[in-house]
Amino acid sequence: MKAVAVFPNGGNSRSSLIEIDKPTLDEAGPRDVLVRVLAVGVDGTDKEILAGEYGSPPPGFDYLITGHESFGVVEAVGPDVARVKPGDFVVATVRRPGTSVYDVIGAQDFTLDNVYFERGINLRHGYLTEYYVEDEEYLTIVPPGLGTVGVLLEPCSVVQKGIAQAYEIQRRLKVWRPRRAAVLGAGTVGLLATLALRLRGLQVHTFATNPRPYVNADLIEEIGASYHAVGERPFAGSADEFGAYDIIFEATGYAPLAFEAMGELNKNGVLILSSVTGGKHTIEIDADKLNLEFVLGNKVMVGTVNASRENFETGVSDFARAELTWPGWLKKLLTHPVPGLERYEELISTLTGGQGVIKVYCEVSA
Ligand code: BGC
Ligand code: ZN
Repeated sequence: MKAVAVFPNGGNSRSSLIEIDKPTLDEAGPRDVLVRVLAVGVDGTDKEILAGEYGSPPPGFDYLITGHESFGVVEAVGPDVARVKPGDFVVATVRRPGTSVYDVIGAQDFTLDNVYFERGINLRHGYLTEYYVEDEEYLTIVPPGLGTVGVLLEPCSVVQKGIAQAYEIQRRLKVWRPRRAAVLGAGTVGLLATLALRLRGLQVHTFATNPRPYVNADLIEEIGASYHAVGERPFAGSADEFGAYDIIFEATGYAPLAFEAMGELNKNGVLILSSVTGGKHTIEIDADKLNLEFVLGNKVMVGTVNASRENFETGVSDFARAELTWPGWLKKLLTHPVPGLERYEELISTLTGGQGVIKVYCEVSA
């Protein structure tokens, strides 16, 4: 079968379509599941992996099979598999356990280890191939009615984890009734964060750089949130106009905004940071002011990375509610299908293609 592989030491021709053996359940464990891949999404992490800036092959390999945003259908199951059956649509989580106490209890998204094992990213092969085998523990069932939007569940799981963490943290308060949220960034993660917060009944203001006309701005307004192009309505100072935000979800990939967000946060508010920033930006901040407001306002800032199966499952619930509330909205995020693994080179070139691009994904099979 075919797979898209990245050879970190391959120079200019770093990625290629390779031929590998189809995995079988015979060599696998009793709780393993054989999944036929239907679709795989790509994001900035894949771009970095292809550029050789991030990720590494599993031990014993000179290549990494990429792809961490999966969607597939169960083809066969091992003798002890209980949760899934052939024909079920599934998505797989990304991170696999290391050695810390969190990994041991199945919370590897909270690992203390410095090394991450992530399928399609670091030290574990990914899903941009025809079939994969995985323990049922890591699979989430996607209702057939959702179909290909299942490919959005991995980026959604990161959003779900961030928001679940915020609510979990706020149990420290006897009463917490968040009313207003800001989302920074209107890419896939920003859109999915806007959706999740709207579904939880918040008034949402989403900020990004693109001026209108902008499809993402229309999508944000379709679900009852407000879109602000920062050139016209800067985020800094916006709390003075709209009221301070009880939740801010940062998803721009531009770290200085995390500090700007500190200044717009309401008392008792939570700032969720989700951008994986590999750069070297430095900025000057109003340290005393921000610190003082955090202290006097009992504010919280929390980082969120990766996600557990539970976060994928709440993502499924949100998607189901979204389909009932705003039918067809999620599907509009699937802007750029690339048919067949053979055309893998178009995945990254399309991703960086600018306006109108939300989710680029490979249609691996029908
Ligand atoms: C993935 C996460 C992963 C992170 C860091 C993101 O693109 O969606 O699952 O933990 O990269 O590798
Ligand atoms: Zn990702």
